[in-house]
Amino acid sequence: MSSPAPPLVYRVLLRLASFLCPAPLRTAWRKQWQSGLHDWWILAERGELTNEAAALAARYCRGAWADALELRFRRDQILHALRGPWCPIFAALLIIGSTGVLSRGFQVIRRVADLVLNARPLPVTLRPHIHYDPRGDVVAAYLAPLALAVLIAVMLLVFNRLPVPQSGWRYWTHLLLKTMSIQTALTVLWFEGGSTLRSVLRPEALRVLGGGLVLAIVFVAGFGAATRWCITDQRRRCPVCLRLLDMPVSVGSWGSVFEPATTELLCAGGHGSLSLSERDNTGPDRWTTLDASWRELFDTAAPFQSD
Ligand SMILES: [Zn+2]
Repeated sequence: MSSPAPPLVYRVLLRLASFLCPAPLRTAWRKQWQSGLHDWWILAERGELTNEAAALAARYCRGAWADALELRFRRDQILHALRGPWCPIFAALLIIGSTGVLSRGFQVIRRVADLVLNARPLPVTLRPHIHYDPRGDVVAAYLAPLALAVLIAVMLLVFNRLPVPQSGWRYWTHLLLKTMSIQTALTVLWFEGGSTLRSVLRPEALRVLGGGLVLAIVFVAGFGAATRWCITDQRRRCPVCLRLLDMPVSVGSWGSVFEPATTELLCAGGHGSLSLSERDNTGPDRWTTLDASWRELFDTAAPFQSD
């Protein structure tokens, strides 16, 4: 007599959980958990488990989901993804997308763009009654801080010690994409979020000073800080795979002229090592390429390395 199959709902739950498992482990994982469920159910059918069989099977399926989740989102895999080149760009795009949804299609940005692109003088019939056109103020309140922020960012990009000179076009494209996406995220947050903030601030003085002036200063400062962060982040990336470098080791000392303070970093993919100068006047960062024979060593040490 064949043993009874566990109820469909538990089998479906296990099958769904198996899709969370990384593909190479999926078949073995599914077999192992399905066989466990089968054993449970044989005991339940024999009456060796009391009337709690359903609750126990449900708990078993919950355990399977937790196990599959852990396999899929292991700590080292999460860290691996966070150090990848796309993480900051993806986070910025997520902020832009959610701001777009929450602001119903960037209403404030579209209004300001419309004022800039379709600026026309007041109709002649209105001029005797209206002596002052506030539309210019609205445009200036948004565009002046934005122009100042962009100017500061450009100066930071030009005058900051930019990373390894031998880096290729992928490296510079990544820096550009990352900087622009983060700057755009901050700008849309300021336009749309600032307008929402001002709409809930009731006292006039608080609205103008807090929601207007202070927020504009915070925006300009945040824009500059974000640009600086992008440059610092890029300095610590591998020019080959664009991942953040690992295993920092401090060498030298701040007081020494012959051996100045530097941080040595290593690419987890085995592409090379970077000597990062900690002082401004000690020359550019130095990248040393490791030959292919090193890569095997790193591959065995980092099983989730994709490059
Ligand atoms: Zn690398």
